Amino acid sequence: MNSDKLIEAFLKFPGIGPRQAKRFVYFLAGESKDYVDQLTRLILETKSGMRQCKSCFRYYEEQNSARENLCRVCADPNRDSDLLMIVEKDVDLENIERTGVYGGKYFVLGGLLSLGGNGKADIRLKQLFDKVEKEKPAEIILATSATLEGENTNLYIERILEPLKVKISRLGRGLSTGAELEYSDTETISNALNGRK
Ligand SMILES: [Zn+2]
Repeated sequence: MNSDKLIEAFLKFPGIGPRQAKRFVYFLAGESKDYVDQLTRLILETKSGMRQCKSCFRYYEEQNSARENLCRVCADPNRDSDLLMIVEKDVDLENIERTGVYGGKYFVLGGLLSLGGNGKADIRLKQLFDKVEKEKPAEIILATSATLEGENTNLYIERILEPLKVKISRLGRGLSTGAELEYSDTETISNALNGRK
């Protein structure tokens, strides 16, 4: 049935479980055709307007095609290329950018390693290694979530980057354990950045 397929499609969304997926389907059933048409169009237009930055791997909305698949941060010559901050997700990068306290560059992992060590293929470890080897930043700042998965990922990154002999620091945490960058305010991020070690 189509509704089952739609539930499956919603289940792929981050943080969405079966009950929520079903609620979305019933919600759409109760909405007007105009609403659903507009939603469908927005999804398609957003998708076709998004590019993936070839340097930090974030997704961004294309505004200037002259930049050849570089996002605003990576294309900015005034950003400090000696600092490379590694974040888990696109929204983490956006949140740090919004605070304006960081002037370096980024790399978006696209997830974390699970505790069993699985999922290595799902995050951009190879791309990270290649970027660090090529661009040789002076310092890498690990800014993953303060969770067990985040710590596991940090340890793994430190191990694979070891041969490149680059300085690796971690955000100091003014954050309670498990707090994520996504939900942190300017002061917290600023403190975490200044307190890195
Ligand atoms: Zn970029």
